[in-house]
Amino acid sequence: MISELPRTGVCVCDCGLNIAGSVDTADVEEFARALPGVVCVVRNKYTCADPGQNEIRRAVVESKLERVVVASCTPRMHEPTFRACVASVGLNPYLLEMANLREHCSWVHAHDRDGATQKAKDLVRSAVSRAQQLQPQEEPTIPVTQAALVIGAGIAGIQAALDMADGGLDVYLVEKEPSIGGIMAQLDKTYPTMDCSI
Ligand code: SF4
Repeated sequence: MISELPRTGVCVCDCGLNIAGSVDTADVEEFARALPGVVCVVRNKYTCADPGQNEIRRAVVESKLERVVVASCTPRMHEPTFRACVASVGLNPYLLEMANLREHCSWVHAHDRDGATQKAKDLVRSAVSRAQQLQPQEEPTIPVTQAALVIGAGIAGIQAALDMADGGLDVYLVEKEPSIGGIMAQLDKTYPTMDCSI
C-alpha cells in the first residue's frame, strides 16, 4: 500500500525564529521522514529565499518527487512562489501543498513549545495526506466577451456600470422603470448637504 503512494517531499521552514522560536522544527523534520510516502525531507532557515527554493528544486529532481509539501507560512503569501518553483523543474504546480506552521501554529502558540510542535506535526501529516490526493491541473485559456450586463439602474447599478466602463468593458445597464436612479431619485434632499438627490 505504501509503495503505491506518490513520492512525496517535505520542506520544513524555520522562518528564522518566527517558526523555529516556538516549534521544534528539527523534531518536525524527523517526524515527517516517517510519514507514509515521504521520501525526502529538507529544512531551511528561509525557504522562500533563493537557497531554499533551490533546495526544493534539487529535491524534486534528485528524489523524483511527485508531490511537494512546504511547511512554512500562509499559502496566501507564498503558494504562488512555491508553485512556480516546482513548475520550473517540471512538476505540475498543483501537486504542491502547504502547511501553515507560522500563522496557524508558532505565532498563536508562542508560549507552548511542546504543544506547538505537536500541532505542527499534525499540520504536516494532514498536508502530506492532502498532497497525496492531489491531481495535476491544467490552466486552459478561454476567450471571454469583454462585456457586462448590469440589472437594475439604482445607485449601486449605475456606479457598477460606470466602474466597469472605466475598466474598458462594454456595459449594458437594464432598468425596468422608465427612469434610472432608483430610490435615490425619489428623494428631494440628502444628508448632510441637503442637496437635491438628482
Ligand atoms: S517561506 Fe514563509 S515561513 Fe518560510 S521564511 Fe519565507 S516567509 Fe518565512
